[in-house]
Amino acid sequence: MISMRIDGPLLERRLDELYAIGAEPDGGTYRPLYGDAWARAVERVERWMKDAGLQAHRDPVGNVWGRAEGHNEGKAIVTGSHIDTVRHGGRLDGALGICAGLTAVETLLSSNGKPRRPLEVVAICEEEGSRFNTNFWGSRAITGAIGTVDPEIAAAMRERGLDPAKVAAAARDDIDTFVELHIEQGGVLDSSRQPLAVVSAIVGTAQLEVTVTGRADHAGTTPMGLRRDALAGAAGMIQAVESIARSLGNPAVATVGKVRAEPDQINVVPGRVVFTIDVRHADLGARAALEERIRSLCATIASERGLELDVRLLQERAPVPMDAGLRALLARAAKDVGSTAAELVSGAGHDAQILAARYKVGMLFVPSIGGRSHCPEEATDPAQLVLGTEVLARALQLLAY
Ligand SMILES: [Zn+2]
Repeated sequence: MISMRIDGPLLERRLDELYAIGAEPDGGTYRPLYGDAWARAVERVERWMKDAGLQAHRDPVGNVWGRAEGHNEGKAIVTGSHIDTVRHGGRLDGALGICAGLTAVETLLSSNGKPRRPLEVVAICEEEGSRFNTNFWGSRAITGAIGTVDPEIAAAMRERGLDPAKVAAAARDDIDTFVELHIEQGGVLDSSRQPLAVVSAIVGTAQLEVTVTGRADHAGTTPMGLRRDALAGAAGMIQAVESIARSLGNPAVATVGKVRAEPDQINVVPGRVVFTIDVRHADLGARAALEERIRSLCATIASERGLELDVRLLQERAPVPMDAGLRALLARAAKDVGSTAAELVSGAGHDAQILAARYKVGMLFVPSIGGRSHCPEEATDPAQLVLGTEVLARALQLLAY
C-alpha cells in the first residue's frame, strides 16, 4: 500500500475558509460568477497556489491556474473544479475539487519534487449557471467553445477587470488530462456504504415540454362524461413517466418538475396544462428508448381522453463517457492507497463533460451524507475527503511523475 500523507486538517481548513466567503445569513454560501464573494474566493485560491510554490495566473474569463513545470515539456496534467456556487450552496460542491487538487499537488511537490510533466490546479470560474443564463462558462472558455459574449456577462466581466474581447485567448490546447474529485450529490455511495467511486459516464439529458389541451368548462354544470380535462389527463401522463423510468431501473431517471394548469381556477375544468419532463440515462440509445416510451404512452393517454398533445424538445445533451484508460488508472490509484472504488454514473452535469471534448477526462466521487447537495446540509465524512484526496494524489503521481 502506498501512503500519500494528505494533510486532512489543512484540507478542512481550506474548505472552511472558502465556505465562509459568500456565507449567507440564512444558511449556505453564494458565490455567483463575477460577484464580490466570487472575486474574494478567486483571490484566496490564487494566494494558496502561490504559497504552494505554483505559478498562478488568471485567464481571460477568470479561471485561475496554478502550474508546476515538469522536467519535460508537453501537455499538462490538470486537476480542479469550479469556484462558483448555487444560492444557499454547500461547503463541498466545486470547492472540494479545488482544495483537494491543491492539497494533492502540494503533497506531491514536497514529497516527490518536480514532476516529469507539467502539473496544474485550476479553479474554474463558473459551472452552475446560477447568475447568468449560461453554465459551464469556465470550461467552455477553456475548450474554446465560447463565441460571442452576452452583453450582460460582458459588463460583469469588465467590472472585474476582464476583457470580454479576449475570451478566445482562454482556450488551451496544451492539456492532456483533466481529473476532478467531486462529491456524488446523490445517495448511492452513502446508502451502500462505499467510500469512493470512479465515474464511468456523465448522463445525457433530454428535456421536454408537454402541452396537453382539452376544454375549459364550468366545474358545476359539466357532467364527468362530457369533460375534456387537461389536468386529469396530464396527471395520468405524469404517473406514466414515473413508472416507465422505474421499470427500466438504474441509471434511468425521469422527472416532471414543472406543471402549469390553465385557467388555474378552483371552479373551472382545466383546459390546458403545460409540464416538463427531464429524462436522463448514461447510454444514448437507452435514453432515446426511454424518451420514446414516454412519448408514446402520453400519446395513448391523450387519445383515450380526447385531448390534444404537443411534445417539444427543449434541450438535449448526449451522455459523456469518461476516458477508459483514466478510469482504469483511477481504480488502480484507489487500490494503491488501500481502498476499493465503485463505478458510478453521474446523474449531475460537471465541467468534465465539457472538457471531454478536447482532453482525456476522469472523475472521482466521494459520498454525500444522505445524498444532500446544493444546500447547507451538504457534507462528507472527513476521512472520506482525505481518502478521495489521497486517491487523487496517487492518480496525479501516476500521470505526471
Ligand atoms: Zn459541482
